[in-house]
Amino acid sequence: ERAERHLAAQYAVTRVLAEAHGQADGIPRTLQAVCETLGWDAGLFWTPQGGELHVDAAWARPEVPAAEFQAASRAVTFERGAGLPGRVWAGGRPAWIRDVTRDAGFSRAREAAAAGLHAGFGFPVAVGEECLGVMEFFQRPVAEPDDALLETMSALGTDIGQFLKWAHAEERLRDRDERQRFLIGVGERLAASAPDYAGTVQSLAALAVPALGDWCSVYLREADGEVRRLTTTHADPGKAGLAEALSRYGHQPDGVVTQVIASGEPVLVPDITPEMLERSATDAEHARLLRELGAHSGMVVPLGARGRMLGAIVLVSGATRHYGDEDLRVAMEFAHRAALGVDNARLYAQAQEANRVKAEFLATMSHELRTPLNAMIGYTDLLEAGIPEPIAGKPLEYVRRVGVSARHLAQLIDEILTFSRVEAGRETVAVREVELEALLAEVRAMVEPLALEKGLPVEVHLPPHPVRFHTDPAKARQILINLLGNAIKFTDQGRVELRACLRGGDVVLSVCDTGIGITPENLERIFDPFWQVAQGTTREAEGTGLGLSVARRLAQLLGGSLVVRSTPESGSTFDLCLPLSGPSGASI
Ligand code: ADP
Repeated sequence: ERAERHLAAQYAVTRVLAEAHGQADGIPRTLQAVCETLGWDAGLFWTPQGGELHVDAAWARPEVPAAEFQAASRAVTFERGAGLPGRVWAGGRPAWIRDVTRDAGFSRAREAAAAGLHAGFGFPVAVGEECLGVMEFFQRPVAEPDDALLETMSALGTDIGQFLKWAHAEERLRDRDERQRFLIGVGERLAASAPDYAGTVQSLAALAVPALGDWCSVYLREADGEVRRLTTTHADPGKAGLAEALSRYGHQPDGVVTQVIASGEPVLVPDITPEMLERSATDAEHARLLRELGAHSGMVVPLGARGRMLGAIVLVSGATRHYGDEDLRVAMEFAHRAALGVDNARLYAQAQEANRVKAEFLATMSHELRTPLNAMIGYTDLLEAGIPEPIAGKPLEYVRRVGVSARHLAQLIDEILTFSRVEAGRETVAVREVELEALLAEVRAMVEPLALEKGLPVEVHLPPHPVRFHTDPAKARQILINLLGNAIKFTDQGRVELRACLRGGDVVLSVCDTGIGITPENLERIFDPFWQVAQGTTREAEGTGLGLSVARRLAQLLGGSLVVRSTPESGSTFDLCLPLSGPSGASI
């Protein structure tokens, strides 16, 4: 009968192990299966961790009041040779106690007595020489050692050991998969974050916790060469205040962060001692923050990209894990990807700055050019008007040509000035009520001479009823003159039209030409600043390439839009759409 019970136990445990997903569900169910098949009341599983045995899992029959006993077991750890589990661990052999409540070497005797537990035994869970843990079982009756039972359990210990080895390998694989997936996601997540420096650093910190640690600090070398702590982030939102307070502290100039940035080599501290924490703090408050944030294990890894050392990231584990070589490897890989993201943000900021400087330079230059040009235009006007004395023939013709060229130059300069004002967000809008017919007549008068020179008629089509609307007339005029100027410039025969119609709450002003048209691949690019379609040697360099980009931005400033349709070789139509009520419903 006893042999049958042992067989049943073996069978039950084998089944549990075969069905378990891992250590977390396999071990408690093994404790239960042994108790239920062999008539024992409570079981514990101890695993070695940092040189001592800790309780990993516990099970007891519901009718046994074992909570206190289990809690006492969880609260103690045993070195090799100490207590029942320690003796089993050291000897590699099972051990039996007939009554734990009367055993001087059994430290949990009082709690066992409270639970009514008396007999106890332990056996190693081992594969060959490698001990993976110790199992303990207890029952209510006092009992003499049962060698047959211990023999059966020793055999089971090997089965459970095999299972644990498999479960650990499986867990490692899962961890590796997860880490791999995490690392692959880093670049993608950083690229999706805000392109600026601060945004990138924040998302980098948010990625690092809790994946790599409980909290982290990011240090970067800034433009002035100084290394600064940019953020400290804690995985626990309840500790955000502490992290925030810590981020106000700098770092020790002779500390580990400086060392890592200088050498490019990471530093791993598996166990952070209280003395180390004290030493790395600059004052008592700093030390208190570090203690409260919790620091048991830490890594400092360099942030290096494209041959430059950008900074370092400090990763800290509060209590849950002790970092090892594998953690360091993952952290290095993470830092490498993160550093690329940070460097991209830096390059982006530099490019933005370069654009700003270019616009500013152009604006200053243009401003300087405008003054002498105004003088030239003024004096040619005087000469043409016969002041101080009348001129005629060739001299008059030459003066006229100087005047036309000067005006053309002035127009280009104005375009650059408008562009830089719009770019800098300094362009203001002066809205008033405008009569459509008058506006179009004015525009026509300004462009007609140019068109007639090329033999092109300018046709204006108005809606049947007078239209009044709200806009900034100077800007509307500037856009239309620009569009008509282009239409004339790129049309050799046919005509140029300016059509107005009402659509919904908008007035749509269309400039159509029968010119060379624009190929589909260039349709959107023509709105980019400084961009021109290559026109062949004769036409190149006419204009600044700013006209349409300025026109579209002004249209948006007026609350409207500018779009184009075109058929190469047969003509283009630009639709300027403006709200009748003015930009964002503004009135006079
Ligand atoms: P630019 O001042 O050099 O003309 P724009 O920004 O006004 O610069 O125009 C950009 C480019 O778009 C022009 O160089 C030209 O190639 C093309 N483009 C603009 N308007 C027309 C049009 N009506 N027909 C054909 N091409 C045009």
